[in-house]
Amino acid sequence: MSREDQKQLLNQRLENLSLDTRAVRSGFIASSEGEHSPAVFMTSSFTYASASDAAAHFSGKVKGNIYSRFTNPSVRVFEDKLANLEGGERAIGTASGMGAILTMGLAYLAAGDHLLSSRDLFGSTVSLFNKYFKKLGIEVTYVDGTDLDAWQAAMQPNTKLLYCETPSNPLSQIVDVQKLSQIAKKGGALLAVDNCFCTPALQRPLELGADIVIHSATKYLDGQGRAVGGALVGSNELMEHAYGVVRTGGVSMSPFNAWIFAKGLETLGLRMRAHAEAALKIAEWLEAQPQVTKVHYAGLTSHPDHKLAAAQQSGFGGIIGFEVTSTKLGLVEAAWQVIDATEVLSITGNLGDVRSTITHPTTTTHGRLSDEERAQAGINDGLIRLSVGLESVEDIQADLARGLALL
Ligand SMILES: *Cc1c(COP(=O)(O)O)cnc(C)c1O
Repeated sequence: MSREDQKQLLNQRLENLSLDTRAVRSGFIASSEGEHSPAVFMTSSFTYASASDAAAHFSGKVKGNIYSRFTNPSVRVFEDKLANLEGGERAIGTASGMGAILTMGLAYLAAGDHLLSSRDLFGSTVSLFNKYFKKLGIEVTYVDGTDLDAWQAAMQPNTKLLYCETPSNPLSQIVDVQKLSQIAKKGGALLAVDNCFCTPALQRPLELGADIVIHSATKYLDGQGRAVGGALVGSNELMEHAYGVVRTGGVSMSPFNAWIFAKGLETLGLRMRAHAEAALKIAEWLEAQPQVTKVHYAGLTSHPDHKLAAAQQSGFGGIIGFEVTSTKLGLVEAAWQVIDATEVLSITGNLGDVRSTITHPTTTTHGRLSDEERAQAGINDGLIRLSVGLESVEDIQADLARGLALL
């Protein structure tokens, strides 16, 4: 039986089973060695029984591995698992999350096309769009992701792709994916959703009408801060274009990293539930602190899009934004005080890790924006971003309380 047939059989057996079961069981087919856990295939190329066998592989008559920039068995385990969890026909692994977004641009846009995006985005995504997509002759405009009328009004005859992150970073803005997909379809455009913050454990954009899901596997898919990688997920037809870009452009995922991500996915549901449960407790606690003026977390009933988030997500994720104030200090100093008083949390720009991380967006991740751009994005100087890890809630709270008491 060919690997494709084996994969189909496996997916059929798993079809009606829960996400947790599929996270553990999907994607992996043992080699002739009978290994129980996915092996790592650290090989750049593959060999053939004869010249005619090689010719058949290169011509595509026989499906099989040729070169690890094209395909690799370890990368395929990750891709098949992720496709299964997202409910997509196919996933394509990439060297990083940004590699996936670059691939998206090269696969689905050309000079003269218009990309319409939500404004509240990961910083490098904005740089990629503004510096490099524009250089290729792609028109890029931004709207408030939560304002469906603004999306509709910004549609142009040449709009080919709509792009958003939901929940967004660092303000937890929620975009209505189902309604946005209707706007995209009506305008003949594709909709791509960056699903980093929720992962398929908490939100499946393809089921809500999106055409493409984008991932930075670096974040929750690994979940343990070990490797950089990314992915696109969607229909066979759309992914064939993305595959062409990855295979030829060389933004391929490393087999070793793919092995890490595939193992990370096995515990995805368990981890995401734990992150979300802890984050909600910490967000509620933060909301009750006098030095905290605002908490951005869609799990709170005070969040403007709480109902929408509750409908389109099965959990609220692990990222919280909160704004501090002080009677003695300016906003930047107050935020830095809270960050510097921590003893357990990591001061880093990364997120989606078992280790809780704390960041001051104004002076780090969003430091390259002008004051005006930051104000427009709603990023206050007292804003702190917290990625809630898997340490105990009490220890994380005590770590934050120490700094808050100094304000
Ligand atoms: C980190 C991140 C990316 C980029 O991923 P890399 O793996 O760092 O290239 C894209 N989108 C979001 C929301 C992210 O958090």
